[in-house]
Amino acid sequence: MAKGLSVQTKANIVVAEANHSVGGHNQTVLLQNLHLNYGLKMIPALEGSHTAMDFLKTILNQELSEHVEELPPIVHGPNGWSPFVGFGDNAPSCADELAYYLQPKRYYLKHPIYTWNQALLGGSGAELLTQHQLTRFETENGLIKSAVLNGEVSVEAKAYIYTGSPIELLKYIPTLGEEDPKWRARLAKTKLWSTVSLNCVHKSVISEQENLYVLIGTGTNPTVVLGQFSDPILHQGKTIQSSQWLTFVTDEEANEEVQAQTLKELKRLMNKYFPNIFDKTLNEKVIIGSRSHGTTSLKFDKNFAMQEYPNLWIAGPHYGAAKNLIGAILQAQNNLLSLSKTLKSEEDPLEKSSKD
Ligand SMILES: Cc1cc2nc3c(=O)[nH]c(=O)nc-3n(C[C@H](O)[C@H](O)[C@H](O)COP(=O)(O)OP(=O)(O)OC[C@H]3O[C@@H](n4cnc5c(N)ncnc54)[C@H](O)[C@@H]3O)c2cc1C
Repeated sequence: MAKGLSVQTKANIVVAEANHSVGGHNQTVLLQNLHLNYGLKMIPALEGSHTAMDFLKTILNQELSEHVEELPPIVHGPNGWSPFVGFGDNAPSCADELAYYLQPKRYYLKHPIYTWNQALLGGSGAELLTQHQLTRFETENGLIKSAVLNGEVSVEAKAYIYTGSPIELLKYIPTLGEEDPKWRARLAKTKLWSTVSLNCVHKSVISEQENLYVLIGTGTNPTVVLGQFSDPILHQGKTIQSSQWLTFVTDEEANEEVQAQTLKELKRLMNKYFPNIFDKTLNEKVIIGSRSHGTTSLKFDKNFAMQEYPNLWIAGPHYGAAKNLIGAILQAQNNLLSLSKTLKSEEDPLEKSSKD
């Protein structure tokens, strides 16, 4: 959005990032001197994917994908690995989150997704404040007056874009939804999911299948692990391979003990379907993706601007019909359209609202 806004308007843009680097759940993971994806990083061919990819291609001014390929996820049954067709009567509680990844077609990407961050940063014209965490929004007369970073730095702007989770938004604006407590309660109840994921570098090639593996545990509400192997890599004279695996825990369960149990089950399933895989593993890294998945049941207007605070725009994967990266990109597109119109128009959103 910053890149698009800087091209389409003359706005001064400040990006606040809590971490020491940008990229969030799309950063690269460095393991054995290899740059790996942060967990699975695939773009399924869903409704909306094409629009999202086209928009990003325009913003980045580069081709992102070669083509869409038919590559169904595979599951192990009595006759070995075969295309996944559904969970039948024993769907796990995170089935809605899994559905995004279980599509038979996906984009064959020209470059890994972590390179998109670097391309987005280049020439965005934005002032980037890393290690600056939003701690609250100050409000006045039905508008956001300033964003407070690290509890002390106050940034005043004509318009604000919030890209965090719905639940945290309530913390940053304690008065949000005062006029409609039901709306506030529904926002607070948004079901969010965190991921427990494992990145591995193996000593040798474990599988040459490019399909997404679906590993299903036992019992009701079974653990489901998704994973994939990279193409073999020639590294320091040896042919090795990396793999990425993930499973979901609900936000309420995401304490350290549950994460440890979930990781144990994830590894058990990997070992069951790929015997002794950990003996053939050079290095591994566990990553917890906090509140990375889930969607609020609330309807935001099509421009994702907050009706209560008209100079606050909302973006990210949690607020629209489309999920994950596709959802986040489509919202960036909608926000960009509405924001650049507002910023280019003579009418100041602050003026407009104080007249109302
Ligand atoms: C393991 C894993 C694998 C995934 N695989 C896929 C996939 O294959 N395909 C797909 O489409 N999606 C995938 N996703 C989901 C996808 O990564 C997210 O939908 C996407 O990253 C959302 O982008 P974002 O920039 O909105 O948020 P994020 O990537 O979550 O980034 C949020 C950023 O905001 C910063 N931040 C948070 N709070 C504050 C604050 N208060 N102040 C300042 N900064 C703050 C964070 O530090 C972070 O840098 C995956 C997610 C995970 C965790």
